Order: sequence, then structure tokens, then C-alpha cells
Amino acid sequence: MNTYIYLLIFGLLAATGTLLGGWVITGGWAAGRKSIGRMLGLGAGFMLAAVFLEAVPEILELWSGRVVEAMSWVLGGYLLIQFAEHALASHLHFGEEVHAEEVGRPGAAAAAVLGLAIHAFFDGVTIASGLLTNLRLGIMLSLAVLLHKLPEGLTAASIVLSAGRSMQAARRATVWIAGSTFAGIVLVALAEPLVTYTLPLSAGVTLYIAASDLIPEANREGGARVSFYLLLGIGLFYIAHLLLHAATGE
Ligand SMILES: [Zn+2]
Ligand SMILES: [Zn+2]
Repeated sequence: MNTYIYLLIFGLLAATGTLLGGWVITGGWAAGRKSIGRMLGLGAGFMLAAVFLEAVPEILELWSGRVVEAMSWVLGGYLLIQFAEHALASHLHFGEEVHAEEVGRPGAAAAAVLGLAIHAFFDGVTIASGLLTNLRLGIMLSLAVLLHKLPEGLTAASIVLSAGRSMQAARRATVWIAGSTFAGIVLVALAEPLVTYTLPLSAGVTLYIAASDLIPEANREGGARVSFYLLLGIGLFYIAHLLLHAATGE
């Protein structure tokens, strides 16, 4: 199948995930909130494994020996999301927003949604960089992105509602976030030679989302459960990895 078809399929799936996550909030689906909370650790486990076991080995091969240069791009991707989510926005964290006093300040909710949109843009960059490198890497990185799209949509919608805005404004924010991911995919598809740089950058972005967005949020509930879901996510990665390697004959 043509790579562009995969780009379209995973772009649509990612957008659907974000919209569904937002709908859990705007549609008032309480049970959904709980299951999404549990999924944070699982998504993080899968993402960590995808970065360290799928993306980094591929990046080092791509940069043949220029290890420090390649890893500098990974570090750059990590710092980029730290900046977008915590320098640009004064208050942003994954999961349901409940601090009305923080996001109610003028501009705070808008800055948080913008930070999240920049993050979502780079989710799109991750999907496209993976798929344009090779199908196996692309599918693994796309799955990693998909596993955190529900909490992402939920986060966006709840920020807007906590700031005292309307349901419609909350839905609009999730549409913006979903659109950002699509924009990231389109940009990389149009500038394919940049993949050498965008692939390590996306690995850093994905590492940030797993280790600095999802895990701290999952840990707020605490206990051994978080570690269990983390390991479950890594187990899922191994299963997907084995199946894909068997299917692609590598
Ligand atoms: Zn908050
Ligand atoms: Zn994301």
C-alpha cells in the first residue's frame, strides 16, 4: 500500500482519538474519564519502548556513527515540548483540568491550548517521519501517538471548560488540536528530505510526552497500579513488534 494512504489513515485515526477524548468531557461520560486515566500508564509504557527500542536504533543507523549529533536532535525535541507546554503556557498538565483558578486567568487557557496544539503538531511530525522512514517504524510510532490521543483531547476540552468557556468552545479547541496533528503530517510529507532531522526530533517529543506528561499524571493516583500499566504497555509494544516483524519479514 502507498505510504500516503498510511499517512492519511493514521492522521484520521489520530484526529478521531483527539475528538473522542474531548467528547468524553463535553458529552459528560464519567466512566470514560476513569478508563482514560488508567490508560495514561499503558500509553506511556508503549511510547517509551517505541522510542528506545524502535526509533533510537533506526536513528543511529540513519545518522551512521554521528551519534552525538543525532542524539542532540532527540534532546532538542524533548526541550521543545517542555518549552511549548511550560514556558509558553503558565499552567498545563495532562489529564482532566480541575484548577479553575489557574486557567481562569486572562490568556492562561488560550496559552495552554496553544501549547497543546504545538505538541499535537509534533505528534503529526512523528507519524509522518516514522512512515516516511519505513513502514514498520511508522506503524509503531503511529500506535504510540494514538495511545495518548484520547487523554490529549480530554485535556484540551477540560482546560477550556475549567476556564469558564462554553461547550462549543471546548469542542472547537479539540478540533484545533486534531487539525494541528494533521498539519504536522502534511508538512513533513511535503518536505520529505527533512525526515533525517524530524525523526530524531520526534523521538525526543515522544519521550517527553511519555516521561514528562503521562507518567507524572498517572503517578498522581500512585501505587503499584501505575507500574503495572507501564509494563502492560511495554508488553503490548513487544507483541506489536513481533507481529510486525513477522509480517514484514525482517
Ligand atoms: Zn490544572
Ligand atoms: Zn499528543
